[in-house]
Amino acid sequence: MKIRNHRLIRDDGAAVAFVASPNVTKGNRGRIQPEYLVMHYTAGASAQSSINWLTNRESEASAHLVIARDGAVTQLVPFNRKAWHAGPSRWAGRSGLNSISIGIELANAGPLVRRANGWTTGWGAAVADEDVVEAAHDNGGSVRGWQAYPTPQLESALDVAAVLGRHYRLSDVVGHDDIAPARKEDPGPAFPKASFRSAVIGRAEDGPELIETTTAVNIRAGPGTGHEKLPVSPLPPATRLEVVSVQGVWREVNLIGAVDGETNVQGWVHGGFVAPVGSGARS
Ligand SMILES: [Zn+2]
Repeated sequence: MKIRNHRLIRDDGAAVAFVASPNVTKGNRGRIQPEYLVMHYTAGASAQSSINWLTNRESEASAHLVIARDGAVTQLVPFNRKAWHAGPSRWAGRSGLNSISIGIELANAGPLVRRANGWTTGWGAAVADEDVVEAAHDNGGSVRGWQAYPTPQLESALDVAAVLGRHYRLSDVVGHDDIAPARKEDPGPAFPKASFRSAVIGRAEDGPELIETTTAVNIRAGPGTGHEKLPVSPLPPATRLEVVSVQGVWREVNLIGAVDGETNVQGWVHGGFVAPVGSGARS
């Protein structure tokens, strides 16, 4: 993917779906030079329902991108235009993050409700146990259930975040819950923030680098999701790997030790699902 005229363009040259939101600051005051990426969850039933809401004048809200659970990306606002996603907010001594950030909404139900026969969304839709992350929010409170972010959605978001980070030389990735902690809980504890930070601001070092998987990760025959998964896929969380080369967001790696009795495995993993060994970046 790449960026042209502040629009996201696919590798085949076509722009991603664009549905213009009227909820933007118009004129010169609405022109921005993004420095941060702000991540959100929609707390909605589907990407489409959130796109409808964020392009409806009544919501007085918008974001630059909405990413569906299957990874489909829709752009609502050009990246050099002020969208209304952050509200009153503060980070690193700056306030009003809408003026200096790109906002991405991930389709996700947010906090869940535990009922007698299993988990549901806040509006009563059933959620399978394997799609629930039980954790306390970093901002406080007790352990609760949160809807997990599926791998296709995270892979798509990481690709987009890496492209945005490079193009606009973004300095950091923050959650809405970081910049407005008294009001907001999104993207919440199910979101792998460390992986996003390394995808956006991490730079490949010289020489071999030891990394570990932060979640279950597919290892593939080549650098891209079009390459076949190797038989040991998915590698379990905390699998140690040695980086032998880097291509975009992909890392060519040697397996250290064994997985399923297999040793001497070499392949490619997405850089968004790994972190330096000992960084405590487990998501
Ligand atoms: Zn938000």
